[in-house]
Amino acid sequence: MAYQCPRCGQPVRRGYSRTAQHTAGLIGALFYAAFGSFQCAQCGAVARSEFPAEVRTRMATGSFLMAFGGIVLIGFVLWLASKR
Ligand SMILES: [Zn+2]
Repeated sequence: MAYQCPRCGQPVRRGYSRTAQHTAGLIGALFYAAFGSFQCAQCGAVARSEFPAEVRTRMATGSFLMAFGGIVLIGFVLWLASKR
């Protein structure tokens, strides 16, 4: 899931928040990555609104899948824990 920076065309990556991870652990970091802003190596943080509408639609789908994957993962971990 690589997106291009709307300003310079370089690939951007999903933002990572140490604060979000500190407060809410892995889940917080996951949700921040799914719904937070993106990071460009050259321009820094890039807001979602700067991306074209078509890209934003793909991002929303990707974010939903990430969040859904996280929930499934939590459910699986809880299921494993209940087996002991
Ligand atoms: Zn850029």
